Amino acid sequence: MVVASQFNEGVAMSKHYDLIAIGAGSGGLSVAERAASYGAKTAVVEMSKLGGTCVNIGCVPKKVMWFGANLAHALRDASGYGFDISVNGFDWGKLVEAREGYIKGINDWYVTYLEDNKVDLIRGEAGFIDANTLEVAGERYTADRIVISPGGKPIVPDIPGAELGITSDGFFELTEQPKEVVVVGAGYIAVELAGVMAALGSNVSLLLRGQHLLKEFDAMLGECLMDEMIDQGINIMPNVQIEAVEQAEDGSLTLKCASGITRTGVDKLIWATGRRPYTDNLNLQAADVEVDSKGFIPTDKFQRTNVKGVYALGDATGRAALTPVAIAAGRRLADRIYNNMTNRHLDYDNIPTVVFSHPPIGTVGLSEDAARDMHGDAVKVYSARFTAMYNAFTEHKTKTAMKLVCVGGEEKVVGVHIIGPASDEMLQGFAVAVKMGATKADFDNTIAIHPTSSEELVTMR
Ligand SMILES: Cc1cc2nc3c(=O)[nH]c(=O)nc-3n(C[C@H](O)[C@H](O)[C@H](O)COP(=O)(O)OP(=O)(O)OC[C@H]3O[C@@H](n4cnc5c(N)ncnc54)[C@H](O)[C@@H]3O)c2cc1C
Repeated sequence: MVVASQFNEGVAMSKHYDLIAIGAGSGGLSVAERAASYGAKTAVVEMSKLGGTCVNIGCVPKKVMWFGANLAHALRDASGYGFDISVNGFDWGKLVEAREGYIKGINDWYVTYLEDNKVDLIRGEAGFIDANTLEVAGERYTADRIVISPGGKPIVPDIPGAELGITSDGFFELTEQPKEVVVVGAGYIAVELAGVMAALGSNVSLLLRGQHLLKEFDAMLGECLMDEMIDQGINIMPNVQIEAVEQAEDGSLTLKCASGITRTGVDKLIWATGRRPYTDNLNLQAADVEVDSKGFIPTDKFQRTNVKGVYALGDATGRAALTPVAIAAGRRLADRIYNNMTNRHLDYDNIPTVVFSHPPIGTVGLSEDAARDMHGDAVKVYSARFTAMYNAFTEHKTKTAMKLVCVGGEEKVVGVHIIGPASDEMLQGFAVAVKMGATKADFDNTIAIHPTSSEELVTMR
């Protein structure tokens, strides 16, 4: 039995552990806390702020900005409901200051959380010495098991002047609102940041290398979102490839694109062109841990790497880069190792996710195209497109679209895809139904909640 180590920030009381997690983000914190709850002597190593990407430069600050953008939309819509209001301005700096104060509260809370859960915090950058030994800030720490959960970093394209742009990390450092913004990318981070800045008053262009948004999801979602973004005044420029970025004398940026297009007068250029695993500084070769060609650490369903006693979690494994996925995988790993739950592992199928665009998107399961590839003519699709009651009174008519993808004679629901106001809060319960294997008949047998948008999902014909 392990004697619970005394928490003392920066100074671990003992240098041998049952388990050390690298990275105090979603994955590392969850495995460490759960392992410690079973009595394992546990430490987590962190070189930056506690909470990782999600808390500091991801989900949390993003959602705060999204709430702010929603308010801007509500103010725009208010006249339709009889309000005569004038908005005197928006203070970006004030919102950012409040947001960072909120995040600081979470960072501080984690210190007590680790202390309460008897997890040692080791401050610094961890590198492997061998499969059971880490070096952090000149000290060596050994463990029976090491969990690698270092997360990821944004990718910046390899073109001249690319460093003049920022990434989502830099977006969260902006204390002033940029006027002319170019966001490059077609994924969820690109559409989320573009939507926030447009709602809050920036002039936003979204540059796409191809033609479509959100290619990894059902095509309906990207198509509807593109229409909405254009309606909101976002300048969507498909098939554009930036070849070089230059800074003009007034400090603004000039983007030189293939096909001869040049864009001048850009205040902020934001690269949202994907993320890579943050595995290059871990000295993984010293422990013989394999990575794939992109630097991701392959794991089996039990989060095991190719080396006994070394596990990997979260974004660094290249599967479903989402906070609840990293948390669930970490908790299940600790349950299996320290609580005798021998087959406990995360099922990576049917993971629901929300894109905090304007309007938001909720999606779980197979897209229509993926279902047709797998099941051919056995696929039946139900869909609906409408203007929600809220928007009957607003000048701006946001559309809602929904799709159920069903398979086989029993019409098992294998995909639910929603875009429209409140989709973000609508999806979770439907994801439970999909995970349980619900059929279209189960949906139909559920009494609708009226008047809502979600009732459409149980009344489709
Ligand atoms: C802009 C943005 C928005 C997002 N929005 C959402 C969302 O709405 N919903 C959602 O579910 N997910 C969202 N995500 C994804 C989510 O943040 C990640 O999936 C999640 O944080 C992954 O957790 P992790 O434990 O793998 O890594 P992280 O949370 O990134 O934690 C890794 C930690 O390891 C530390 N570290 C790395 N290397 C070392 C080392 N050698 N030594 C010591 N410490 C090290 C890092 O400093 C970091 O704190 C978003 C991400 C971004 C970038």
